[in-house]
Amino acid sequence: MNKRIRKAAVIGSGIMGSGIAAQLANAGISCLLLDIVPQRLTDAEMAAGLTLDHPSVRNRLATAAIAGLFKTKPAPLYDNAFAERITPGNLEDHLALIADVDWVIEVVVENLEVKQKLLTQVERHWKPGTIVSSNTSGISINAMTEGRSEEFRSHFLGTHFFNPPRYMKLLEIIPGQMTDPELIQDLSRFCERTLGKTVVLAKDTPNFIANRIGTYGLLVTLREMEEKGYTVEEVDAVTGPAMGRPKSATFRTLDLVGLDTFLHVADNVYANVKDEAEKVVFAAPESLKQMVSRGWLGEKSGQGFYRKI
Ligand code: NAD
Repeated sequence: MNKRIRKAAVIGSGIMGSGIAAQLANAGISCLLLDIVPQRLTDAEMAAGLTLDHPSVRNRLATAAIAGLFKTKPAPLYDNAFAERITPGNLEDHLALIADVDWVIEVVVENLEVKQKLLTQVERHWKPGTIVSSNTSGISINAMTEGRSEEFRSHFLGTHFFNPPRYMKLLEIIPGQMTDPELIQDLSRFCERTLGKTVVLAKDTPNFIANRIGTYGLLVTLREMEEKGYTVEEVDAVTGPAMGRPKSATFRTLDLVGLDTFLHVADNVYANVKDEAEKVVFAAPESLKQMVSRGWLGEKSGQGFYRKI
């Protein structure tokens, strides 16, 4: 393998996709950032007389994600000028451009079927030699590429970045059954040397290592809070800055992660554990499900455990 990574494509321009694109841009790598085509016009687009087939509408999600990088704190980019290395686009018009990149990173919603469908489309345009990885929080790497060719699968693995990608050093790398061992070594070296990551190799077990442990801790904390009548603020006071952990207050972290994503992650491990005692721990509390169905998704929707001002 031993190839250089100069160009990448990130598919999915949400919290993580935009942050990963920013980190790649910071490292000098030019990056396509692709998302789905919007199905509805915004009020501003309607007022401007645009139609759904206008390129600015079709590319709106990734374009808005890049604009969002300038407003996010802590800053995802070393400097705003680095954003010039990120090119926004949409999947329908621009997916074929992945034939020209060295690394494709899938960062769409945490749903096996959505990821499988996307990887089927990716393989149509993929050229051997290009690495393809998923940023899944815990869905099986092997299941994601079922039905794909052996050659594609030999180039595929999990690269689990943490939020926010520029600041979190940990990167879990999860090889699939067929991943080329040389590719694992090369990509690990690249992520350590060029992206400054600390790589931990994980097995393809539900939620890998970090989210298996982390989800356990968060769900137990949430349940204890409700049963014992603690408040969100009290729990954050004893798990955050006052405890010498400036970035890790429990519910601030969940708002940053996204409550929908956290629910998907909890449901994934619940669906995959067999032991009854483990099922009890990993069953998502009703209160969390209700928050998500109400659209309380955390910082990205403006309301989660905290209201964003
Ligand atoms: P998000 O909800 O912020 O963004 C998801 C993006 O995917 C959206 O922009 C959406 O339009 C796009 N999308 C949805 N369906 C698509 C499709 N079919 N094709 C292309 N794009 C599609 O989610 P996120 O928090 O960025 O999470 C993305 C992935 O990263 C998930 O697998 C998640 O588990 C993982 N992850 C999230 C975090 C976190 O802290 N949020 C941390 C590590 C890993």
